[in-house]
Amino acid sequence: MNVLVIGGGGREHALVWKISQSPLVEKIFCAPGNAGIAELAQCVDFKVDDIEGLLAFAQEQQIGLTVVGPELPLTLGLVDRFREAGLTVFGADKKAAQIEGSKSFSKDLMAKYGVPTAAYGTFTDPEQAKDFIREQGAPIVVKADGLAAGKGVIVAQTEAEAIAAVEDILCEGAFGAAGSRVVIEEFLEGEEASFLAFTDGENIVSLASSQDHKPALDGDTGPNTGGMGAYSPAPVVTDAIHQQILEKVLKPTIAGMAAEGCDYSSIIYAGLMIKDGELKVLEFNARFGDPETQPLLARLKSDIVPVLLACAKGDLSGIELEWHDKAAVCVVMAAGGYPGAYEKGQVIEGLEAAAAIDDLTVFHAGTVEKDGKVVTAGGRVLGVTGLGSTVAEAIETAYKGVKAISWPEVHYRSDIGRKALNR
Ligand code: ATP
Repeated sequence: MNVLVIGGGGREHALVWKISQSPLVEKIFCAPGNAGIAELAQCVDFKVDDIEGLLAFAQEQQIGLTVVGPELPLTLGLVDRFREAGLTVFGADKKAAQIEGSKSFSKDLMAKYGVPTAAYGTFTDPEQAKDFIREQGAPIVVKADGLAAGKGVIVAQTEAEAIAAVEDILCEGAFGAAGSRVVIEEFLEGEEASFLAFTDGENIVSLASSQDHKPALDGDTGPNTGGMGAYSPAPVVTDAIHQQILEKVLKPTIAGMAAEGCDYSSIIYAGLMIKDGELKVLEFNARFGDPETQPLLARLKSDIVPVLLACAKGDLSGIELEWHDKAAVCVVMAAGGYPGAYEKGQVIEGLEAAAAIDDLTVFHAGTVEKDGKVVTAGGRVLGVTGLGSTVAEAIETAYKGVKAISWPEVHYRSDIGRKALNR
Protein backbone atom coordinates (compact mmCIF):
# COMPACT_ATOMS: atom_id res chain seq x y z
CA MET A 1 0.00 0.00 0.00
CA ASN A 2 1.14 3.56 -0.69
CA VAL A 3 0.72 6.03 2.18
CA LEU A 4 0.60 9.83 2.08
CA VAL A 5 1.43 11.76 5.26
CA ILE A 6 0.45 15.44 5.32
CA GLY A 7 2.69 17.83 7.27
CA GLY A 8 6.36 18.54 7.73
CA GLY A 9 7.15 18.75 11.45
CA GLY A 10 8.56 16.50 14.12
CA ARG A 11 5.17 14.85 14.61
CA GLU A 12 5.05 13.90 10.94
CA HIS A 13 8.63 12.59 10.98
CA ALA A 14 7.65 10.34 13.91
CA LEU A 15 4.54 9.18 12.01
CA VAL A 16 6.51 8.48 8.82
CA TRP A 17 9.20 6.66 10.87
CA LYS A 18 6.60 4.43 12.53
CA ILE A 19 4.57 3.85 9.35
CA SER A 20 7.79 2.92 7.47
CA GLN A 21 8.25 -0.04 9.87
CA SER A 22 4.95 -1.62 8.76
CA PRO A 23 5.09 -4.63 6.43
CA LEU A 24 1.81 -3.38 4.92
CA VAL A 25 3.49 -0.34 3.39
CA GLU A 26 5.28 -0.15 0.05
CA LYS A 27 5.96 3.52 -0.46
CA ILE A 28 5.45 6.65 1.65
CA PHE A 29 4.97 10.16 0.33
CA CYS A 30 5.02 13.18 2.60
CA ALA A 31 3.73 16.68 1.81
CA PRO A 32 5.76 18.81 2.29
CA GLY A 33 8.07 16.78 4.62
CA ASN A 34 11.55 17.86 5.75
CA ALA A 35 15.17 16.73 5.46
CA GLY A 36 14.76 13.88 7.97
CA ILE A 37 11.52 12.63 6.46
CA ALA A 38 13.22 12.60 3.04
CA GLU A 39 15.33 9.65 4.21
CA LEU A 40 12.21 7.49 4.61
CA ALA A 41 9.65 8.97 2.22
CA GLN A 42 9.39 10.85 -1.03
CA CYS A 43 8.71 14.49 -0.12
CA VAL A 44 6.27 16.27 -2.39
CA ASP A 45 5.97 20.02 -2.47
CA PHE A 46 2.37 20.74 -1.52
CA LYS A 47 1.20 23.16 1.15
CA VAL A 48 -0.86 21.42 3.83
CA ASP A 49 -3.91 23.53 2.94
CA ASP A 50 -3.74 22.78 -0.82
CA ILE A 51 -6.65 20.36 -0.57
CA GLU A 52 -7.36 20.03 -4.29
CA GLY A 53 -3.67 19.57 -5.14
CA LEU A 54 -3.26 16.91 -2.46
CA LEU A 55 -6.42 15.12 -3.55
CA ALA A 56 -5.33 14.97 -7.19
CA PHE A 57 -1.92 13.68 -6.08
CA ALA A 58 -3.44 11.00 -3.83
CA GLN A 59 -5.67 9.79 -6.67
CA GLU A 60 -2.82 9.77 -9.17
CA GLN A 61 -0.50 7.78 -6.86
CA GLN A 62 -3.25 5.37 -5.78
CA ILE A 63 -2.71 6.22 -2.13
CA GLY A 64 -4.27 3.54 0.10
CA LEU A 65 -4.09 5.63 3.28
CA THR A 66 -3.65 9.37 3.84
CA VAL A 67 -2.66 10.49 7.33
CA VAL A 68 -3.19 14.13 8.30
CA GLY A 69 -0.77 15.61 10.86
CA PRO A 70 -1.62 19.29 11.47
CA GLU A 71 -4.91 20.91 12.43
CA LEU A 72 -5.28 23.41 9.59
CA PRO A 73 -6.24 20.96 6.81
CA LEU A 74 -8.67 19.24 9.23
CA THR A 75 -10.54 22.47 9.99
CA LEU A 76 -10.56 23.30 6.26
CA GLY A 77 -12.33 20.01 5.47
CA LEU A 78 -9.55 17.99 3.80
CA VAL A 79 -10.90 14.76 5.30
CA ASP A 80 -14.46 15.44 4.06
CA ARG A 81 -13.15 16.12 0.54
CA PHE A 82 -10.97 12.95 0.45
CA ARG A 83 -13.86 10.81 1.77
CA GLU A 84 -16.28 12.22 -0.83
CA ALA A 85 -13.73 11.13 -3.45
CA GLY A 86 -13.72 7.58 -1.99
CA LEU A 87 -10.23 7.73 -0.44
CA THR A 88 -9.23 6.23 2.92
CA VAL A 89 -8.04 9.05 5.18
CA PHE A 90 -7.05 9.24 8.84
CA GLY A 91 -8.12 12.50 10.49
CA ALA A 92 -11.09 14.35 11.91
CA ASP A 93 -13.65 15.71 9.47
CA LYS A 94 -14.50 19.43 9.42
CA LYS A 95 -17.39 19.19 11.84
CA ALA A 96 -15.48 17.07 14.36
CA ALA A 97 -12.39 19.29 14.05
CA GLN A 98 -14.39 22.13 15.60
CA ILE A 99 -13.47 20.57 18.95
CA GLU A 100 -10.04 22.09 18.31
CA GLY A 101 -10.83 24.82 15.78
CA SER A 102 -13.31 26.68 18.00
CA LYS A 103 -12.62 27.03 21.71
CA SER A 104 -16.20 28.22 22.31
CA PHE A 105 -17.53 25.07 20.59
CA SER A 106 -15.33 22.89 22.77
CA LYS A 107 -16.16 24.75 26.00
CA ASP A 108 -19.91 24.63 25.26
CA LEU A 109 -19.63 20.90 24.51
CA MET A 110 -17.87 20.29 27.84
CA ALA A 111 -20.43 22.37 29.73
CA LYS A 112 -23.34 20.55 28.07
CA TYR A 113 -22.01 17.05 28.67
CA GLY A 114 -20.57 17.62 32.15
CA VAL A 115 -16.86 17.35 31.30
CA PRO A 116 -14.78 19.09 34.02
CA THR A 117 -13.22 22.32 32.73
CA ALA A 118 -12.47 25.88 33.89
CA ALA A 119 -15.47 28.23 34.35
CA TYR A 120 -15.71 30.55 31.33
CA GLY A 121 -17.57 33.16 29.33
CA THR A 122 -17.62 33.72 25.55
CA PHE A 123 -17.68 37.25 24.12
CA THR A 124 -17.73 39.15 20.85
CA ASP A 125 -18.34 42.52 22.53
CA PRO A 126 -15.15 43.99 24.06
CA GLU A 127 -17.00 45.98 26.75
CA GLN A 128 -18.85 42.90 28.01
CA ALA A 129 -15.56 40.96 27.98
CA LYS A 130 -13.88 43.67 30.05
CA ASP A 131 -16.77 43.78 32.55
CA PHE A 132 -16.46 40.00 32.97
CA ILE A 133 -12.72 40.35 33.64
CA ARG A 134 -13.38 43.07 36.28
CA GLU A 135 -16.02 40.88 37.93
CA GLN A 136 -13.80 37.77 38.01
CA GLY A 137 -10.46 39.44 38.80
CA ALA A 138 -6.94 38.20 37.96
CA PRO A 139 -5.20 35.88 37.30
CA ILE A 140 -7.47 35.05 34.37
CA VAL A 141 -6.99 33.50 30.93
CA VAL A 142 -8.01 35.13 27.62
CA LYS A 143 -8.18 32.93 24.50
CA ALA A 144 -8.83 33.76 20.85
CA ASP A 145 -11.64 31.43 19.74
CA GLY A 146 -10.02 30.03 16.59
CA LEU A 147 -6.66 28.53 15.61
CA ALA A 148 -3.71 30.75 16.47
CA ALA A 149 -0.80 28.26 16.50
CA GLY A 150 -0.63 28.26 20.30
CA LYS A 151 -0.20 32.07 20.41
CA GLY A 152 -3.84 32.98 21.03
CA VAL A 153 -3.81 32.15 24.75
CA ILE A 154 -2.89 34.89 27.23
CA VAL A 155 -2.50 33.82 30.85
CA ALA A 156 -2.95 37.28 32.42
CA GLN A 157 -1.58 37.94 35.90
CA THR A 158 -3.39 41.30 36.19
CA GLU A 159 -6.77 42.68 35.08
CA ALA A 160 -4.93 45.30 32.97
CA GLU A 161 -3.07 42.57 31.08
CA ALA A 162 -6.32 40.68 30.43
CA ILE A 163 -8.07 43.83 29.24
CA ALA A 164 -5.14 44.62 26.92
CA ALA A 165 -5.44 41.08 25.50
CA VAL A 166 -9.16 41.59 24.83
CA GLU A 167 -8.37 44.86 23.02
CA ASP A 168 -5.64 43.22 20.95
CA ILE A 169 -7.85 40.32 19.94
CA LEU A 170 -11.33 41.85 19.57
CA CYS A 171 -10.51 45.49 18.65
CA GLU A 172 -7.13 45.33 16.89
CA GLY A 173 -7.76 41.97 15.16
CA ALA A 174 -4.40 40.52 16.30
CA PHE A 175 -5.49 37.02 15.17
CA GLY A 176 -7.78 38.00 12.29
CA ALA A 177 -10.98 35.95 12.03
CA ALA A 178 -9.65 33.48 14.65
CA GLY A 179 -10.10 36.32 17.14
CA SER A 180 -13.60 37.52 16.27
CA ARG A 181 -14.66 35.91 19.55
CA VAL A 182 -12.83 35.34 22.84
CA VAL A 183 -13.20 32.76 25.56
CA ILE A 184 -12.28 34.11 28.99
CA GLU A 185 -11.71 31.49 31.62
CA GLU A 186 -10.81 30.83 35.21
CA PHE A 187 -7.08 30.43 35.85
CA LEU A 188 -6.29 26.85 36.85
CA GLU A 189 -3.32 25.75 38.91
CA GLY A 190 -1.73 22.32 38.84
CA GLU A 191 0.42 20.09 36.67
CA GLU A 192 -0.38 19.64 32.98
CA ALA A 193 -0.51 16.35 31.11
CA SER A 194 -1.57 15.25 27.65
CA PHE A 195 -3.73 12.23 26.98
CA LEU A 196 -4.32 10.91 23.48
CA ALA A 197 -6.69 8.20 22.34
CA PHE A 198 -7.94 6.78 19.07
CA THR A 199 -11.71 6.67 18.73
CA ASP A 200 -14.21 5.60 16.08
CA GLY A 201 -17.00 7.57 17.74
CA GLU A 202 -17.76 4.71 20.11
CA ASN A 203 -14.70 2.63 20.99
CA ILE A 204 -11.75 4.29 22.73
CA VAL A 205 -8.19 2.98 22.33
CA SER A 206 -5.92 4.92 24.70
CA LEU A 207 -2.32 5.78 24.03
CA ALA A 208 0.19 6.06 26.90
CA SER A 209 0.23 9.25 29.00
CA SER A 210 2.66 12.06 28.17
CA GLN A 211 3.66 15.55 29.22
CA ASP A 212 4.66 18.53 27.07
CA HIS A 213 6.81 21.52 28.15
CA LYS A 214 5.30 24.64 26.58
CA PRO A 215 7.37 27.51 28.03
CA ALA A 216 10.59 28.36 26.14
CA LEU A 217 12.96 28.38 29.12
CA ASP A 218 14.04 26.15 32.00
CA GLY A 219 11.81 26.00 35.05
CA ASP A 220 8.73 26.67 32.88
CA THR A 221 9.62 30.33 32.40
CA GLY A 222 9.60 32.54 29.30
CA PRO A 223 6.99 32.74 26.55
CA ASN A 224 4.84 29.79 25.51
CA THR A 225 5.96 27.83 22.44
CA GLY A 226 4.56 24.98 20.36
CA GLY A 227 6.34 22.66 22.84
CA MET A 228 10.01 22.38 23.88
CA GLY A 229 10.00 18.70 24.74
CA ALA A 230 7.85 15.85 25.99
CA TYR A 231 8.11 12.54 27.76
CA SER A 232 6.05 9.41 28.24
CA PRO A 233 4.79 7.90 30.48
CA ALA A 234 3.85 10.86 32.71
CA PRO A 235 3.70 9.76 36.38
CA VAL A 236 1.22 12.58 37.15
CA VAL A 237 -1.29 10.36 35.31
CA THR A 238 -1.72 7.76 38.04
CA ASP A 239 -4.08 4.80 37.59
CA ALA A 240 -6.81 6.78 39.36
CA ILE A 241 -6.31 9.79 37.08
CA HIS A 242 -6.26 7.49 34.05
CA GLN A 243 -9.63 6.14 35.13
CA GLN A 244 -11.00 9.68 35.57
CA ILE A 245 -9.76 10.64 32.10
CA LEU A 246 -11.69 7.73 30.60
CA GLU A 247 -14.88 8.11 32.64
CA LYS A 248 -15.14 11.88 33.09
CA VAL A 249 -13.47 13.16 29.94
CA LEU A 250 -13.21 10.81 26.99
CA LYS A 251 -16.46 8.83 27.27
CA PRO A 252 -18.78 11.87 27.77
CA THR A 253 -16.91 13.91 25.14
CA ILE A 254 -17.11 11.21 22.48
CA ALA A 255 -20.76 10.51 23.32
CA GLY A 256 -21.43 14.28 23.28
CA MET A 257 -19.82 14.68 19.87
CA ALA A 258 -21.98 11.84 18.52
CA ALA A 259 -25.11 13.44 20.05
CA GLU A 260 -24.20 16.73 18.36
CA GLY A 261 -24.06 14.94 15.00
CA CYS A 262 -20.26 14.95 14.74
CA ASP A 263 -18.85 11.75 13.30
CA TYR A 264 -15.64 11.61 15.33
CA SER A 265 -13.32 8.91 14.04
CA SER A 266 -9.73 9.95 14.59
CA ILE A 267 -7.38 10.78 17.40
CA ILE A 268 -8.57 12.89 20.30
CA TYR A 269 -6.05 14.79 22.40
CA ALA A 270 -7.03 16.12 25.81
CA GLY A 271 -4.82 18.78 27.41
CA LEU A 272 -5.38 18.42 31.17
CA MET A 273 -4.63 20.30 34.37
CA ILE A 274 -4.27 17.99 37.37
CA LYS A 275 -4.32 19.07 41.00
CA ASP A 276 -4.84 17.10 44.21
CA GLY A 277 -6.10 14.03 42.36
CA GLU A 278 -8.71 15.96 40.34
CA LEU A 279 -8.51 16.99 36.72
CA LYS A 280 -9.91 19.64 34.40
CA VAL A 281 -9.68 19.85 30.62
CA LEU A 282 -7.70 22.82 29.24
CA GLU A 283 -8.28 22.03 25.60
CA PHE A 284 -9.00 19.35 23.05
CA ASN A 285 -7.07 18.82 19.87
CA ALA A 286 -8.32 16.76 16.96
CA ARG A 287 -4.86 15.49 15.97
CA PHE A 288 -1.63 14.05 17.34
CA GLY A 289 0.30 16.41 19.61
CA ASP A 290 3.68 17.80 18.66
CA PRO A 291 6.05 16.96 20.41
CA GLU A 292 4.12 14.29 22.41
CA THR A 293 3.87 12.05 19.32
CA GLN A 294 7.65 11.67 19.18
CA PRO A 295 8.07 9.91 22.58
CA LEU A 296 4.69 8.14 22.23
CA LEU A 297 5.53 6.53 18.90
CA ALA A 298 9.07 5.75 20.07
CA ARG A 299 7.40 3.58 22.77
CA LEU A 300 4.67 2.02 20.63
CA LYS A 301 5.35 -1.64 19.84
CA SER A 302 2.26 -2.36 17.69
CA ASP A 303 2.20 -1.71 13.96
CA ILE A 304 0.44 1.67 13.70
CA VAL A 305 -0.86 1.16 10.16
CA PRO A 306 -3.72 -1.27 10.99
CA VAL A 307 -4.81 1.16 13.73
CA LEU A 308 -4.79 4.18 11.42
CA LEU A 309 -6.66 2.17 8.76
CA ALA A 310 -9.29 0.93 11.25
CA CYS A 311 -9.82 4.46 12.51
CA ALA A 312 -10.02 5.86 8.97
CA LYS A 313 -12.69 3.23 8.20
CA GLY A 314 -14.59 4.05 11.40
CA ASP A 315 -14.31 0.73 13.25
CA LEU A 316 -11.73 0.15 15.98
CA SER A 317 -13.34 -2.99 17.43
CA GLY A 318 -10.71 -5.54 18.38
CA ILE A 319 -7.83 -3.04 18.15
CA GLU A 320 -5.38 -3.01 21.07
CA LEU A 321 -2.03 -1.31 21.43
CA GLU A 322 1.16 -2.87 22.76
CA TRP A 323 3.90 -0.72 24.30
CA HIS A 324 7.62 -1.17 24.85
CA ASP A 325 8.36 -1.35 28.52
CA LYS A 326 10.58 1.73 28.29
CA ALA A 327 10.23 5.45 28.91
CA ALA A 328 10.91 8.00 26.17
CA VAL A 329 12.02 11.61 26.36
CA CYS A 330 12.07 14.06 23.43
CA VAL A 331 14.15 17.23 23.76
CA VAL A 332 13.34 19.89 21.16
CA MET A 333 16.34 21.71 19.75
CA ALA A 334 15.11 25.09 18.51
CA ALA A 335 16.49 28.11 16.70
CA GLY A 336 17.77 30.80 19.11
CA GLY A 337 15.08 33.49 19.49
CA TYR A 338 12.13 31.10 18.96
CA PRO A 339 9.17 31.67 19.56
CA GLY A 340 10.16 35.20 18.47
CA ALA A 341 12.27 36.04 15.40
CA TYR A 342 15.09 33.61 14.53
CA GLU A 343 17.68 32.87 11.85
CA LYS A 344 17.25 30.15 9.24
CA GLY A 345 19.78 28.39 7.04
CA GLN A 346 22.31 27.49 9.78
CA VAL A 347 24.24 24.27 9.08
CA ILE A 348 23.45 21.48 11.57
CA GLU A 349 26.52 19.49 12.65
CA GLY A 350 26.67 16.15 14.45
CA LEU A 351 23.62 14.34 13.03
CA GLU A 352 25.73 11.31 12.09
CA ALA A 353 27.33 11.10 15.54
CA ALA A 354 23.85 11.27 17.10
CA ALA A 355 22.56 8.55 14.77
CA ALA A 356 25.22 6.20 16.16
CA ILE A 357 23.90 6.49 19.73
CA ASP A 358 21.88 3.47 20.90
CA ASP A 359 18.21 3.96 21.77
CA LEU A 360 18.19 7.43 20.18
CA THR A 361 16.14 8.76 17.25
CA VAL A 362 16.46 12.28 15.92
CA PHE A 363 13.15 13.47 14.51
CA HIS A 364 13.45 16.47 12.21
CA ALA A 365 11.03 19.42 12.25
CA GLY A 366 12.26 22.67 10.63
CA THR A 367 15.08 21.31 8.45
CA VAL A 368 15.89 21.30 4.73
CA GLU A 369 18.75 19.94 2.72
CA LYS A 370 20.88 22.55 0.99
CA ASP A 371 24.02 21.79 -1.04
CA GLY A 372 24.26 18.35 0.55
CA LYS A 373 24.00 19.72 4.10
CA VAL A 374 21.08 19.75 6.52
CA VAL A 375 20.26 23.34 7.54
CA THR A 376 17.75 24.92 9.94
CA ALA A 377 14.47 26.06 8.37
CA GLY A 378 12.06 26.71 11.25
CA GLY A 379 11.68 27.56 14.94
CA ARG A 380 11.59 24.03 16.25
CA VAL A 381 14.36 22.22 14.38
CA LEU A 382 14.87 18.72 15.86
CA GLY A 383 13.20 16.44 18.43
CA VAL A 384 15.98 14.34 19.90
CA THR A 385 14.25 11.31 21.39
CA GLY A 386 15.86 8.85 23.77
CA LEU A 387 14.59 5.59 25.28
CA GLY A 388 15.56 4.19 28.67
CA SER A 389 14.34 1.72 31.25
CA THR A 390 13.34 4.73 33.40
CA VAL A 391 12.57 8.38 32.61
CA ALA A 392 15.97 9.25 34.18
CA GLU A 393 17.76 6.95 31.73
CA ALA A 394 15.75 8.23 28.80
CA ILE A 395 16.69 11.82 29.76
CA GLU A 396 20.36 10.80 29.80
CA THR A 397 20.12 9.24 26.33
CA ALA A 398 18.23 12.19 24.87
CA TYR A 399 20.72 14.76 26.19
CA LYS A 400 23.64 12.64 24.95
CA GLY A 401 22.09 13.10 21.51
CA VAL A 402 21.52 16.82 22.06
CA LYS A 403 25.16 17.33 23.09
CA ALA A 404 26.35 15.60 19.89
CA ILE A 405 24.43 18.07 17.68
CA SER A 406 25.09 21.77 17.19
CA TRP A 407 24.55 24.86 15.05
CA PRO A 408 25.53 28.47 15.76
CA GLU A 409 22.38 29.71 17.49
CA VAL A 410 20.82 26.63 19.00
CA HIS A 411 18.49 26.75 21.99
CA TYR A 412 17.04 23.94 24.08
CA ARG A 413 15.75 23.46 27.58
CA SER A 414 18.01 21.51 29.89
CA ASP A 415 15.24 20.27 32.21
CA ILE A 416 12.95 18.20 29.98
CA GLY A 417 11.49 15.30 31.98
CA ARG A 418 12.70 16.61 35.32
CA LYS A 419 9.16 16.95 36.66
CA ALA A 420 8.77 13.18 36.39
CA LEU A 421 11.87 12.73 38.56
CA ASN A 422 10.77 15.26 41.14
CA ARG A 423 7.59 13.42 41.99
P1 ATP B 1 -1.88 24.40 21.51
O1 ATP B 1 -0.68 25.08 20.93
O2 ATP B 1 -1.54 23.24 22.41
O3 ATP B 1 -2.95 24.08 20.55
P2 ATP B 1 -3.75 26.32 22.37
O4 ATP B 1 -3.45 27.56 21.66
O5 ATP B 1 -4.88 25.51 21.90
O6 ATP B 1 -2.45 25.47 22.53
P3 ATP B 1 -4.38 25.98 25.21
O7 ATP B 1 -3.78 24.62 25.26
O8 ATP B 1 -5.80 26.17 25.49
O9 ATP B 1 -4.00 26.75 23.88
O10 ATP B 1 -3.50 26.83 26.21
C1 ATP B 1 -2.09 26.95 26.06
C2 ATP B 1 -1.44 26.91 27.43
O11 ATP B 1 -1.95 27.98 28.24
C3 ATP B 1 -1.79 25.65 28.21
O12 ATP B 1 -0.92 24.59 27.88
C4 ATP B 1 -1.63 26.13 29.63
O13 ATP B 1 -0.27 26.14 30.02
C5 ATP B 1 -2.10 27.55 29.57
N1 ATP B 1 -3.53 27.63 29.94
C6 ATP B 1 -4.61 27.52 29.13
N2 ATP B 1 -5.76 27.62 29.81
C7 ATP B 1 -5.42 27.81 31.10
C8 ATP B 1 -6.18 27.99 32.31
N3 ATP B 1 -7.49 28.03 32.31
N4 ATP B 1 -5.48 28.13 33.46
C9 ATP B 1 -4.13 28.13 33.48
N5 ATP B 1 -3.37 27.98 32.38
C10 ATP B 1 -3.99 27.81 31.21
